[in-house]
Amino acid sequence: MASDSETERQCEQALAFGPVPSRRLGMSIGVNVVPRKVCSYNCVYCQLGRTTKLTVERRVYTPTDPIVQAVREKLAQASHTDYVTVIGDGEPTLAANLGDVRGQIANEWSGRTALLTNGSLLWMSDVRSAAAGFDAVLPTVSAGDQATFRKLHRPHVSLSFDRCVRGLKSFCAEYADRTWAEVMLVRDFNDSQRSLRAIGSLIKELNPAEVHITAPVRPPSVSTIQPPTSESVELALREIPGSVDFTHPETSEMPESRANPVQHLVDITGTHPLRREQALDVFVNSGMSGEEADEALDSMVRSAAVIALDRKGEVFYVRGRPKAGRNTFK
Ligand code: SF4
Repeated sequence: MASDSETERQCEQALAFGPVPSRRLGMSIGVNVVPRKVCSYNCVYCQLGRTTKLTVERRVYTPTDPIVQAVREKLAQASHTDYVTVIGDGEPTLAANLGDVRGQIANEWSGRTALLTNGSLLWMSDVRSAAAGFDAVLPTVSAGDQATFRKLHRPHVSLSFDRCVRGLKSFCAEYADRTWAEVMLVRDFNDSQRSLRAIGSLIKELNPAEVHITAPVRPPSVSTIQPPTSESVELALREIPGSVDFTHPETSEMPESRANPVQHLVDITGTHPLRREQALDVFVNSGMSGEEADEALDSMVRSAAVIALDRKGEVFYVRGRPKAGRNTFK
């Protein structure tokens, strides 16, 4: 396992990465439209480290053309893609060119697009318009009351629970059929019966097409954060109508790719933790033998380009964390 000092290696942001297998979205190419870590929240469970720019200011953080070019290249290299997913190294709806990026991708690609968002800015009509273009919108609905909302998300000062709920309701009033709510369960934060009941009641009002129960897999912003117990997951499934358990990590095989395997692995593990077999697949799929793949992966761990983490007895590989994302919030 890597030491703390090894996690300080600075990694460059990829504008597009993958495709990676996703339990919720099949083979997905990820798209970053804001720099790490520009966000309207500073969630205790954030797997990207602490928020370095806490803001609700919408602007063009990265121009549209290089983003679309990066997606174009990934699509050309991929043998199969189910979704192009705007996910962000922060909150993607902060990007004022979000709608433009999606529109330009859709001009060149007839497949489906998805937006992973914290949903905090849906009270803005231009954010709702940009989000409405996606085939699937996956907002976070992990708090059902103001106290849990503040404790869990540590939002920008201008964001109240009521304001964010109003935005979610406005969006779902028109687009519930393409909304897949995500409930991130965090032990002792939102997994009590009272919290889950409040979330369940909000979800009932929103009436999204799908409800996914998820759990932190990568090391969170606050080091003491724990994934939920299996009893909590079962309670959540009972209290939240229509919910489905997505708390187990993705285990599918990685797709064929001729991309530079080292860079490919760094890009993917920036957002998606991979099991050892999946990480080795990246090298084997580029033409290496099993032995060469073992050595290449171990060499990346030694140089801290990726970190090996033990999660419930299983090892996952994640990208080395940039300095700005180290655990400093307690
Ligand atoms: S989990 Fe998402 S919404 Fe929360 S701080 Fe991280 S990037 Fe922002």
